[in-house]
Amino acid sequence: MQRVVQAELERVTRLQAGLVQGARLWNQPVFTDNFRLEAEKGAVVGSNLPEVPLTSTTMQAGLRGYKGYLESLSRFNTVGKLRNLSVSPSQVSEARGNHATVDRVEALLRLVGQLQPLTTYLAGAEGNLSSDHSWSVRAAAVRDALLVDVRRFGKGDDPTRAAPVLQQELETLKREYVVVYTEEHRRLTLNAQADDRRERLSRDPRLASVRTLSTVGLLDKAQLSGWQQALTALVTCRTFYEGLLEDEPTCPDCHLHPAQRSRSAPAEQILDDLDRRLDALLSGWRGALRNALDSDSARQSIAAMGHDEAQPIAEFLRQTDDDPVIPSGFTTVATAALQGIQTVTIWEGELMDALANGGLPCTKQEFERRFGEFLRLQLHGSDARTTRLMLTDRELALAAD
Ligand SMILES: [Zn+2]
Repeated sequence: MQRVVQAELERVTRLQAGLVQGARLWNQPVFTDNFRLEAEKGAVVGSNLPEVPLTSTTMQAGLRGYKGYLESLSRFNTVGKLRNLSVSPSQVSEARGNHATVDRVEALLRLVGQLQPLTTYLAGAEGNLSSDHSWSVRAAAVRDALLVDVRRFGKGDDPTRAAPVLQQELETLKREYVVVYTEEHRRLTLNAQADDRRERLSRDPRLASVRTLSTVGLLDKAQLSGWQQALTALVTCRTFYEGLLEDEPTCPDCHLHPAQRSRSAPAEQILDDLDRRLDALLSGWRGALRNALDSDSARQSIAAMGHDEAQPIAEFLRQTDDDPVIPSGFTTVATAALQGIQTVTIWEGELMDALANGGLPCTKQEFERRFGEFLRLQLHGSDARTTRLMLTDRELALAAD
């Protein structure tokens, strides 16, 4: 008898610990001891009290009673003592009631333990889809009905559905989730093939050209950075397959939470759009530069440049607007032309006079000093980057007038 008593004592102690930990299903407490009325501004506006409340206090009382009864029995540990054992009929019936409670607690905790992995998975799955998704709506209904059934079972009432039925329902919900998530994953991420396309787009010659052109101050760089951000924001998942969702509701590779992107366009469609936007960006910027370089002030600036210096601009203007090849050195001259080029005319006679000033012949160093001083005076107050020098013969200039 003592062996049985000891085994029962161990069982009760284990169940007491289980009750203290507080059983949870779907991230919600199974016992409703701590449910309180929600008050707002002093007025009771609602109650989150569940449909079927289940408190652990009566269960704990049952376990304590049964434990006390077992401990009293364990004192009769010899045949002699056993002869003096007398238990009243009321004690027996109380012990019988408490024993039933112990069995119920054990069955409840076993059921919770059995359903827990699936409900934890489904709670995580719920977080991945927006709350108005049809699956989420169904899941919320299943969760509420499940908690009602489990609490009813805990109270000793007849549950409407048996454990295998509940388990089956959760399994079905999980399978449906895997289908939904897989579809969302396919829609919102780039697979290996699409990711290769993204990779090619990031190395596209058109993008290199647009980047080069972006150094010309006239153009709106935000268009380019917006394009690059959109390309970077695309989620890539090259190796996804349904089986990855067996143990966890979120793709372990890309950690996609579809709820956060529910209004996003399909990833491959965004990629198509970006391809088209790159065409538009290149031709738009080329067109804007063509117009700007055609303005009177820019034409004057270009005319003030030497033929070789202005060569990249001439080449650029000959190209079509979809040409991804930007002539070498174009952005520097184009920037200068658009900023406005000033011409400083140097008269040959004045230059000759300046070089001869102080007497000739002279040393190389002296000759260089006189030339440097002359240039400094001529260019005084002008920006070397936007200034070009002209050499003119006064006699010829006068004759031309
Ligand atoms: Zn993924």
